[in-house]
Amino acid sequence: MNRNFSQILKYISEYYGIKEADILGPSREKNIKMARFVIVYLAREILNFSYPEIGRELGDRDHTTIMHAYKKMGAFLENENFKNEIDEIINNLGIRKRHKNITKNFKITTIPIIKTKQEDISLKKSKIKIEKDYIFDKRIIKRLENVLNLWREGNTLQEVGDKLKLSRERISQLIKKGIQYEVQQLEKDGIKIDYKEYFRNEKLKQKNTRNKIKEENKPPEVPKKSKIKRWSEYYDFCRMCKTTDNKHISHGYCKKCYYKTEQFKEIQRASRLRNKEKWDIRAKKYSKEYINRPEIKEKLKRKRDEECYGGNRELALKRDGYQCTRCHISQQESLNKYGRDLYVVHIKSTTNHSLKNLITLCKKCHSKRIIKIVQSKNNKINKSDKMGDKKR
Ligand SMILES: [Zn+2]
Ligand SMILES: [Zn+2]
Repeated sequence: MNRNFSQILKYISEYYGIKEADILGPSREKNIKMARFVIVYLAREILNFSYPEIGRELGDRDHTTIMHAYKKMGAFLENENFKNEIDEIINNLGIRKRHKNITKNFKITTIPIIKTKQEDISLKKSKIKIEKDYIFDKRIIKRLENVLNLWREGNTLQEVGDKLKLSRERISQLIKKGIQYEVQQLEKDGIKIDYKEYFRNEKLKQKNTRNKIKEENKPPEVPKKSKIKRWSEYYDFCRMCKTTDNKHISHGYCKKCYYKTEQFKEIQRASRLRNKEKWDIRAKKYSKEYINRPEIKEKLKRKRDEECYGGNRELALKRDGYQCTRCHISQQESLNKYGRDLYVVHIKSTTNHSLKNLITLCKKCHSKRIIKIVQSKNNKINKSDKMGDKKR
């Protein structure tokens, strides 16, 4: 078992008072499960272990179980008390988060992977050949360690190459060799390892370290310059007059041009059709108000005078002293008594607008006159009828 991992296991076992064997065993008891969760979290955060690695260490559990446990811990850690507890454990363990020594000292932290039959096949297919009997010279070993250390610190192949004045390709070869050496050493200790998966794990870890460094060295984000504001969302200037001074209203037209466009007129027409009834009521109301305005009343009066009296009505009224020529009632009295202005009437022809043919009358006298005219007309008709009778 990995030294660092066993250290964590031991500590947690003591901390929670649970036997190590129980933690590694199959028990599903709540406390034991919780201890496992904590170990998973610490192995991941402190030792930078992969899920499969943790799974293997923790009683040969499936990596999905470990992943699940790690995610669960994320939720648990939102609890302030629990987080403090975990922080305390990390402190007591005396291991800094993301343990750097692990990569610096050339100690193998990855847990050897026991070969399965399937992995055997993949190993055969793999392009990388393990030269089992390769004898590593002490100087070569030191060189390999050096390369691997630089690489594990998060340097790219190119960066390692630049430091050691070697080509990128050569560094790649040396890293492979270094890993090979590590595998060989482990196999000497009687641990079987899948070289391919081991290498893959190492690469992944290196990538993680690299990403972390990258993130740490990231310059603070400079707020982006705000985009230059366009005149409208889709247009840089008015489609009709090309201005940008007037406000955009719609369809790329400014407020002066939009209301002249066919588009707007069409919209207006359609809207008017939709709201015809409403508009009719409004129009009626407005016209009523309109004709009751004094200046409009005056205007209409003049217009009527022009049409019906050739503009002589006012003159006729003036001539008659603004009073009825029969009963001499004044204009104001007429308004009070009958609710009507004085009438100016044509004596004979209604097409003759000369002053001689016009006469001022009040309502009553006007009615009387009309009755008289009608009566005389009837008389005439009667007379002519009687005449007709006699003739027969
Ligand atoms: Zn315009
Ligand atoms: Zn009168």
